[in-house]
Amino acid sequence: MNTRPSTEQSVDPQPARLRRLPVLGNAPEPTLPAIPSGQPIHDGLNRPITYLRISLTDRCNYRCTYCMPEEGVELALRSQVLSFEELETVVQALMRVGVRRVRLTGGEPTVRKDLLHLVERLGRLGLDDLALSTNGERLAELAGPLRQAGLDRLNVSLDTLDAAKFRQVTRHGHLDRVLAGLEAVRSAGFKSTKLNTVAMRGFNDDEVGALCRYAFERGFVPRFIELMPMAEGSLFYPGTFFPVAETRTILRHEFGALLDEQELPAESRPSAQPGVGPARYAVVSYQGAVHRVGLISAVSEPFCDTCNRVRLSATGELHACLAYDDAIDLRSVLRAHTSQSPDELLNVLAATARTGLQRKRLGHEFTPSGCGGPRKYMVSIGG
Ligand code: SAM
Ligand code: SF4
Repeated sequence: MNTRPSTEQSVDPQPARLRRLPVLGNAPEPTLPAIPSGQPIHDGLNRPITYLRISLTDRCNYRCTYCMPEEGVELALRSQVLSFEELETVVQALMRVGVRRVRLTGGEPTVRKDLLHLVERLGRLGLDDLALSTNGERLAELAGPLRQAGLDRLNVSLDTLDAAKFRQVTRHGHLDRVLAGLEAVRSAGFKSTKLNTVAMRGFNDDEVGALCRYAFERGFVPRFIELMPMAEGSLFYPGTFFPVAETRTILRHEFGALLDEQELPAESRPSAQPGVGPARYAVVSYQGAVHRVGLISAVSEPFCDTCNRVRLSATGELHACLAYDDAIDLRSVLRAHTSQSPDELLNVLAATARTGLQRKRLGHEFTPSGCGGPRKYMVSIGG
């Protein structure tokens, strides 16, 4: 894989569609009417905020080339990272204003000490869905215990089925461990497990069919993600961007015509599945059964108009959008209000989040040549 940093940033013309896009977050103050406490947050596009992604740590046992440089990412101090108690408080507060689903992510969430204990605590809060994203390195030992602790679903990253390429893209990963982890996921009885592949031209575009077959044969759902220009495009290598339109072309070539969702029984339609988020799903036929394939197209076919998610960084910054650096500082609120009753603290946190999230931007400005991304790395915001 080409590992040179992008040189195209200064020459990329912004598409007309994005030039027209209003950026609410740049406005001085929102003019939206105040929303009464207890009611779900709706942002400026009337998008209800129901889904919270929590980064448990900005640390990782891998160094995927598109996500983190080998060295040089400034990591948070341990004292800045939210404790389990603080995380639980934030989740409870955001549940007061509409959050129903939580995903634990990072960095790599499985490197956070006592993860199972946190899953147990959050599992008792009455969320509709508690999920976790992982690189899979530790799943062989953790899948069963995570299920027992109350985790509902898992997403596992898998960019290639070739051990040497896997090592190349992750720098520190072991494909055999991840594949053993995926077997443990099946044995543990997780349903609707997604396998996330960042599609990259010249690296794994020749594996789209193989990755799908691997997933279909084991009851997993493959998903192909467009490369996003995080860290101001510094890890975005020229020519590697692979749009979902080309993934669709390969799917047609490998599996024949893409099927209409309506051809599926109602309960198996992509839109009826747990965890439906930014992915759009193609439906293909393989070995006499229908399967869905997720396509996450933040760059070439943005899905901002249906975005219902916000992200909490490991240090307590609530990001309304992955594509921007600005965030609402919930850690200061948490740590400044220790004298309040628990109920008052939840209300203050919920009100702070509500005010900030009403300013959630209408869209982002990622471009296929690596422009428009935030200054922060994916691991700093939380993927
Ligand atoms: N460590 C876990 C993992 O790898 O699944 C969870 C965190 S990781 C940041 C979450 C997802 O973000 C992974 O599927 C990863 O492939 C994806 N990701 C990281 N950097 C990306 C980038 N620049 N563009 C698109 N996806 C990216
Ligand atoms: Fe770590 Fe996940 Fe980023 Fe890879 S994508 S470096 S596994 S956080």
